[in-house]
Amino acid sequence: MKKVFLLLASLVLAAFTANSQSGNGNIPQLNLDRTLRVNYIFSGTDKTQEIALAELCSIDGWAGRRVNMDKLPLRGNGQVVMSVKGPEGEFDDIVYMMSFSTLFQEWQATEEATTTRKAFENVFLLPMPATQARVTVRLFDFHGNVSCEYSHLVNPDDILIRPVGKTVTPHEWIWKGGKDLGSDLDQEHRIDIAIVAEGYTEEEMGTFMDDARDAMASLWAHEPFGALKDRFNIVCVKSPSNESNVSVPRAGLWKDTAVGSHFDTFYSDRYLTTLNLFRLHDVLAGIPYEHIIILANTDTYGGGGIYNSYTLTTAHHPGFRPVVVHEFGHSFAGLADEYHYDDQYSEQYYPDTEPWEQNITTMKDFDSKWKDMVGKEYNIGSTGINWNGRKRVDTNVTVGIFEGGGYQSKGVWRGSDDCRMKTNSYPAFCPVCQRAIDRIIRFYTEEQD
Ligand SMILES: [Zn+2]
Repeated sequence: MKKVFLLLASLVLAAFTANSQSGNGNIPQLNLDRTLRVNYIFSGTDKTQEIALAELCSIDGWAGRRVNMDKLPLRGNGQVVMSVKGPEGEFDDIVYMMSFSTLFQEWQATEEATTTRKAFENVFLLPMPATQARVTVRLFDFHGNVSCEYSHLVNPDDILIRPVGKTVTPHEWIWKGGKDLGSDLDQEHRIDIAIVAEGYTEEEMGTFMDDARDAMASLWAHEPFGALKDRFNIVCVKSPSNESNVSVPRAGLWKDTAVGSHFDTFYSDRYLTTLNLFRLHDVLAGIPYEHIIILANTDTYGGGGIYNSYTLTTAHHPGFRPVVVHEFGHSFAGLADEYHYDDQYSEQYYPDTEPWEQNITTMKDFDSKWKDMVGKEYNIGSTGINWNGRKRVDTNVTVGIFEGGGYQSKGVWRGSDDCRMKTNSYPAFCPVCQRAIDRIIRFYTEEQD
């Protein structure tokens, strides 16, 4: 009798699960109650690339998007694609895809890469497949050509998929957008941002929470984040460090911190990153997250933002508020830097290739960018924020074509004279960036044709 009841209960549960899935994008090949975390090692030199699978993990729940799962928000410098068997028995039915950029690819442009072979950790969160699936990872070169591709099969019942998130880092939500703000988005459809403590000791968690609230306030002070803030959740992850502050290798300072970040990445003073992606995602396991902002407890200037990987920034430098939003422009919306160097520091953008980043163009395919906005006036927001002593500039900006961007003074153009993606003193995103961010937020939260 008990067995029959259990069977009935499980059938009811299965029917309920199937029903709720069909309301979430109608992909029966996915188990949206679980996340598949895939750990990879990307390795190589300036000329070679290799991708290897390190480990498969599973996490309770799925915090990722439930719309447009088989589409990409942007092309990215790389893509991860999950497919299942279609009617012909081939793995050609795409059920999920995501684009990204990597520190590995940035490193490949350094001088060190011409003499050294190095390995970098990368982690992707995928919905757990309900049946056998194929996962493909591909990387692109500066011309948009596939430079490396690797595929492997995943069986959801593989006994070696390691469950993670059993011990969950203490955390606290500081923002749950939604119904209270008039949105009709329910909890699971919102975009989950996790703010992670780095270089804060147990005793300094109060300071971390204050810093996290400052980061959030700065984000909401920038359109279109402010106007669409009801589409986000923000959770603060109180990962304690054994030592305060973060590592500054050029000063011989190495600290024992939660995710082992350090300045001087690729020997560049201001470049603050962590190479410990596996550790970072272990810290986050069990907490719903999609986009990551790591706050470093230091007043040394620096930071970095890698598209669909993470933002890492200095919390106690006077430029914290603009910088955290600038870096989030990279990591969340895949925006390019709009500044340039006069000495043509490095070349990533070529005339034969239109960049995938929405806020710069090489004019190869300007129709796909902001050609329709040129000459028109846009209101860039009304928050009246005043940073670094600079008064709020005109709230109305006319979009144009300005040469210089993507670190290049020639051959790359941006849409406005100034922007959050160009200088820390300017108080807002330019209209081109605002439209790009708006589109990304809607991509993650609204079904598109
Ligand atoms: Zn811009």
